[in-house]
Amino acid sequence: MAEVKYVFVTGGVTSSLGKGTLSASLAKLLQSRGYSVTIQKLDPYINVDPGTLNPYEHGECYVTIDGAETDLDLGHYERFLNVPTSQANNVTTGSIYKSVIEKERKGEYLGKTVQVIPHITDEIKRRIKLLSPGNKYDIVLTEIGGTVGDIESLPYIESVRQLKWELGPQNCIVIHLTLVPYLSASGESKTKPTQHSVKTLLEEGIQPDILVLRTEKKLNAGLKRKVALFCNVEESAVIESLDVSTIYEVPIYMLEEKLDQIVLKKLGLPVLEEPDLGQWREFLRKLKNPKHTVKIGLVGKYVELADAYKSITEALIHGGAYNECKVNIEFIHSEKITETNVNQLLDALDGILVAPGFGSRGIDGKILAVKYARENSIPFLGICLGMQCAVIEFARNVLDLEGAHSTEIDHKTLYPVIDLMEEQKSIIEKGGTMRLGGFKCRITNDSKTFAAYGKSEVTERHRHRYEFNDEYIDLFRDNGMIPVGINPESNLVEIMEIRNHPWFVGVQFHPEYSSTVISPHPLFVHFIKACIDKKD
Ligand code: GLN
Repeated sequence: MAEVKYVFVTGGVTSSLGKGTLSASLAKLLQSRGYSVTIQKLDPYINVDPGTLNPYEHGECYVTIDGAETDLDLGHYERFLNVPTSQANNVTTGSIYKSVIEKERKGEYLGKTVQVIPHITDEIKRRIKLLSPGNKYDIVLTEIGGTVGDIESLPYIESVRQLKWELGPQNCIVIHLTLVPYLSASGESKTKPTQHSVKTLLEEGIQPDILVLRTEKKLNAGLKRKVALFCNVEESAVIESLDVSTIYEVPIYMLEEKLDQIVLKKLGLPVLEEPDLGQWREFLRKLKNPKHTVKIGLVGKYVELADAYKSITEALIHGGAYNECKVNIEFIHSEKITETNVNQLLDALDGILVAPGFGSRGIDGKILAVKYARENSIPFLGICLGMQCAVIEFARNVLDLEGAHSTEIDHKTLYPVIDLMEEQKSIIEKGGTMRLGGFKCRITNDSKTFAAYGKSEVTERHRHRYEFNDEYIDLFRDNGMIPVGINPESNLVEIMEIRNHPWFVGVQFHPEYSSTVISPHPLFVHFIKACIDKKD
């Protein structure tokens, strides 16, 4: 069996250069040339996973089908590769230390002093190799979070250095992503920050094999040669990454820059087939040549940071492109919606999406947005807390259950239409204890959701503690809000629809996590279609 090849992606100069997009784009190209590829993210923070992080910290928490709460970059990997990731694809410093400390407590180190080197680095290397059991993949791409030079990423860089030595240069390469800033005052692109960041990497023991230079201006051959010379990298291995209008163009750009071919050459792998990017290019063509435009209001409380709703905004783009429709997303802060301004704030929208969330902040604005969508026949998609708000709104304003609420917000409410799940009642620890990952849902034939999926059983990802309170099910059904999706094992209500409305769907799960470029999520496709129909 052929050996697994490893590609590491590090970042220098500044954060937010797009290591995730670069990794996903390279993986896409390698996949499109017939190689089996997976991507992993190593995050240097101490949280065991991002599940306990506020979205303002690092953006959304992405949930895998096997129920791991992970970094949002895993979402990019899935959206680009169209293959599911898992728990093993995201490693944090916290999780590394946790397993080392657990082993130490069990006495597994046989009295040795437990140290960063070799115990932490060994555990990091073990996690990297764990990703390809039985050499399942040809190539494993690993993105190292943070910026080279950070104290906290040192053990990761040291592990990569060791792996490079252990596996040999043909089996393990490092791509370093840096920034070449453009100084408008002097009209020049500057290479010094790149040189310095490569120097830092060298001090830590790693000579990068490939440099990718993020830049807003096209770089000339002379500049690339200079970088190659001073950073000790082959000239053909200095790749330009010019800003592009959508992240989905990056694979095409990297293909033109021959990044994939250089990687394959360095790994001693044949450049087999011409990349099969037909569907990808078709998606881009539709994305760039829309026939329709809709404006969708995304109502949430973390709207100041667009990354907090990353998977939702991407799923809207996928669903839009499928419909040849440009989706303009208007982020609406739920805390700012009041009885007096709601009409004016939501007036120009073709569709309303109420976002997931936790806690009471902004909840009243979300409920007002639901009411507006229901009463004005605006296509509505409520996700997780968004679905729960739709239930609360219907209870209060249609069923006349005054003060109906979720016990998450008001534990004394007379009408707890959303309540804590039974199995959650005894849980005290916060991390990794929600209802997480893929669960089955059976869908009623006569529903909007069935029309979207075209099948009656689906598996969707979850991340919540509260659920629709079954005691009210008949009351809701008899008055026009219908539970059209039920979990066949636990009987939990997963989908609510309002019959007497053009398109009103609330889902307890997160469809956004499984929308990809090649397989846009059917609920987003149909939601946008309903918005186009409404506008026309
Ligand atoms: N806070 C709600 C719950 O725990 C909704 C969670 C969510 O929107 N992801 O049930």
